[in-house]
Amino acid sequence: MDSSKRKFLALSGLTIASTLYASETDTDSKGKSKETKKPKETASKKALLPDAKGPRVVVVGGGWSGLSIAKTIKEFSPQADVVLVEKRYEFISCPVSNLWLVDKVKLEYITHDYLQAARNYDYRYFNATATGIDKDSRILKTSEGDIAFDYLVLSPGIDYDYSRWTTDATLIARLKQEYPAGFIPGSEHMTLKNKVQNFKEGNFILTVPGGNYRCLPAPYERACVIADHFKQNKLKAKVIILDENNAITIKKKGFSSAFEELYADYIEYVPNSAIKNIDLDKKIVSTELDEFEFADAAFYPRVRGATIIETMGFAKDAKDMMEGHINPITYEVIGEKDIFIAGDSRPMGFSKSGNTSNSEGKYVGRVIASRINKEEMPEWEAPITLCFSAVSTKPMSAIYIYTRYAFDKKDKKAKDAKFIDWKKFSFSKTLSSEEWKKNGATDANSIISWADALYFDMFGKS
Ligand SMILES: Cc1cc2nc3c(=O)[nH]c(=O)nc-3n(C[C@H](O)[C@H](O)[C@H](O)COP(=O)(O)OP(=O)(O)OC[C@H]3O[C@@H](n4cnc5c(N)ncnc54)[C@H](O)[C@@H]3O)c2cc1C
Repeated sequence: MDSSKRKFLALSGLTIASTLYASETDTDSKGKSKETKKPKETASKKALLPDAKGPRVVVVGGGWSGLSIAKTIKEFSPQADVVLVEKRYEFISCPVSNLWLVDKVKLEYITHDYLQAARNYDYRYFNATATGIDKDSRILKTSEGDIAFDYLVLSPGIDYDYSRWTTDATLIARLKQEYPAGFIPGSEHMTLKNKVQNFKEGNFILTVPGGNYRCLPAPYERACVIADHFKQNKLKAKVIILDENNAITIKKKGFSSAFEELYADYIEYVPNSAIKNIDLDKKIVSTELDEFEFADAAFYPRVRGATIIETMGFAKDAKDMMEGHINPITYEVIGEKDIFIAGDSRPMGFSKSGNTSNSEGKYVGRVIASRINKEEMPEWEAPITLCFSAVSTKPMSAIYIYTRYAFDKKDKKAKDAKFIDWKKFSFSKTLSSEEWKKNGATDANSIISWADALYFDMFGKS
């Protein structure tokens, strides 16, 4: 490319970034002309952002993790130029969305404004999808152009993994479109709400995946509120929970007593139900032992770290979950400098929950701020899982669990942060309240006070 062309691209905010292969005529060693494949320079534009005034930190993903990290970095390193790259235009909360399915809260309550968060906490919200990375040049590729970074945080959450059920692309596309899981917010939740509100009669199937899936209690909470809706509307309808696990995975006492005592005619709980076949035309799901007919369903498959992490080459396939390949204490990608992964795409066996991601984000934000400020790294802090689940809506009644995490100090290598193994983390200081008949009303009030506090923490004043 000649220099005048380069100058034009620079002036118009374009940079040379990706290379594509194109046919060109060349000569071989004997001087004969031949067709060769040569890299062709293509222009990719620079994102339309003001120049960074301090060290630039790009945070990908404005969920419970990314929002908390962006805010915390600005709190501890006000000189940092923080850009939050998020593909959505607004935030819709998964927590509390089960209550919205049955009209106990409004959509406005669980929907929040990225611009407000960015104004209140003095960072920049940039609406774009991250698509890749140029590690050598330290550039994040996005749908809206390239962003140079000094520090990069990836908090893109999860994607679904249907591969244990099927690899048939048509079936996967139909499952996603006609029977979405409802564990990634937005359209999936809207579809699910319409299904529940318009349901007339028959079986409504919900599945619970194996592995460390997003929000352990949420499928059981969802079963309770849907069954509650069927019961109140006197429908000849039943929720069938096909659980891949051999028992309810969390708050077992609270959920199983609710299933038995409140919804004996409305919930059928079937453990050890790994799905073998789904026939969407005949509307039959087969497990190893049984077949279930359904009128409608939400199929929740296993989860994995969001695919962008794999695209960038930062995923490890332990447990088939393609989560971030990181040091569990610093959250830094192994073999990379100043690139971090947090939230539900982390590999540690923490609960994949909003409270966990939010509290973890405060620690990860301080780790990054300490790098920027050239200070000592903060001492490791366990994230906090605090999760309330509704078991009935008339009257409102709920149960909860609180836990922190500890790593196995008996592991001799654990003294050295580099060797702390993500498999060694376990629950510690766990409390739960599952006596919904006794404490359910108080715990139900806490659902809203918890959400109010967390939304305020992430978005600030309106
Ligand atoms: C029904 C339901 C109920 C739940 N209830 C609770 C509860 O009561 N309490 C609780 O603590 N947790 C609950 N959770 C779990 C909680 O929602 C998740 O654990 C939490 O959202 C994880 O936060 P995260 O930031 O890692 O991911 P997310 O919140 O999913 O955020 C990831 C963000 O990254 C963005 N993104 C992804 N890829 C890209 C890209 N390439 N470029 C730009 N942006 C990208 C996404 O748009 C998204 O906004 C619930 C979840 C569900 C589904």
